[in-house]
Amino acid sequence: MTHREVFLQNVAQTSDFPLALEIEKAEGIYLYGKNGVKYMDLISGIGVSNVGHRHPNVVNAIKTQVDKYMHLMVYGEYVQQPQVLLAQALAKTLANYRTATGYVLDNVYFTNSGTEAVEGAMKLAKRFTGRTEIVSCNRSYHGSTQGALSLGEEHFRRNFRPLLPAITKIERNQLIDLEKITTQTAAVIFEPVGGESGVRPADEVYLKELRKRCNEVGTLLIFDEVQSGFGRTGSFWAFEQYDVVPDILLCAKGMGGGMPIGAFIAPQQIMAVFKDNPILGHITTFGGHPVSCAASLATLNTIHDDNLLAEVEKKASLFRELLVHPAIKEIRHKGLMMAVEFEDFDTLKAIIDKAISKGVITDWFLYCDNSMRIAPPLIITEEEIRQACEIILDSIV
Ligand code: PMP
Repeated sequence: MTHREVFLQNVAQTSDFPLALEIEKAEGIYLYGKNGVKYMDLISGIGVSNVGHRHPNVVNAIKTQVDKYMHLMVYGEYVQQPQVLLAQALAKTLANYRTATGYVLDNVYFTNSGTEAVEGAMKLAKRFTGRTEIVSCNRSYHGSTQGALSLGEEHFRRNFRPLLPAITKIERNQLIDLEKITTQTAAVIFEPVGGESGVRPADEVYLKELRKRCNEVGTLLIFDEVQSGFGRTGSFWAFEQYDVVPDILLCAKGMGGGMPIGAFIAPQQIMAVFKDNPILGHITTFGGHPVSCAASLATLNTIHDDNLLAEVEKKASLFRELLVHPAIKEIRHKGLMMAVEFEDFDTLKAIIDKAISKGVITDWFLYCDNSMRIAPPLIITEEEIRQACEIILDSIV
């Protein structure tokens, strides 16, 4: 049987995807295919390998933890040090910020994925506020389970109705739409940097007005930093570049340094509604897996110890400086979360295919198929950026 026959995630029959490159090894910013073919990974497995593939600190942390224990029991049942240490480290990254109600984001619930973090956060907001409605933005992506899917685009939702009722969609950056957030709204879920819409950094004035509106009507503001968190945008959290603090913060992807893990993080005062009776809150067997937590802690420490945030903006500027060509319409970015816009999908696809044949892997976005996704591991060097940009420019036909 071929890979297309046995493995559904690989099965799309269109010529557009998947790449179906057979990778034998990954290291740093490189993927190694069959017969020693070497690719530069400019997308980090979709914003995951922020510290590079198989970072030695992450690999060592995994090995050390595997030698102690792996899964012991459903999350929360026993005290597992990797979870405690990671929760403490995450809280430390947030200790200087206060929510609009003066709380600190100091309580973590670990999940398996970004989507599960979204689901948990929606449940938490409903329990805390006693309200039923959730507001999300047009062209936002929050995941693919039926709750998260309810928040997303119609194209992805339409085959799966009935989905969650009481979801209101608003247009990003449109102040008039803030009126749709009312005293019935449990939470607004918002990506500070829109990911799958093709890298859309929030407008700071809008974000402040959004925060203000939520305060006025007693609605919780959830920031989905699944894609923008863990250093991707040049600060540990993207929201740090705005003067706006969420009530609930979501992360996943880059968090695990290549291992599966996510989290929703909220102040003790909000999370308390789940603590009274945890089994009526959220339950997960593998969420906060100790090996993933160990990998995540090593990732977080590496970002800080290796000062990876310091160079992000400089590296992003170098991409901007080098990627100049009449075919390039626009570059949008926050740190190393970048979108390079071309005329249309066909133009972009031809460039992506050619660049891959020359050893550079890029991609497009779920909701934006005329823009090239560039989100390399933060460890990429200036020399590698130069090589990558040369290949991309050479691939423009
Ligand atoms: N939120 C955002 C902003 C995302 O980009 C994604 C994944 N692309 C998700 C949630 C879902 O995360 P996961 O695939 O880990 O479930």
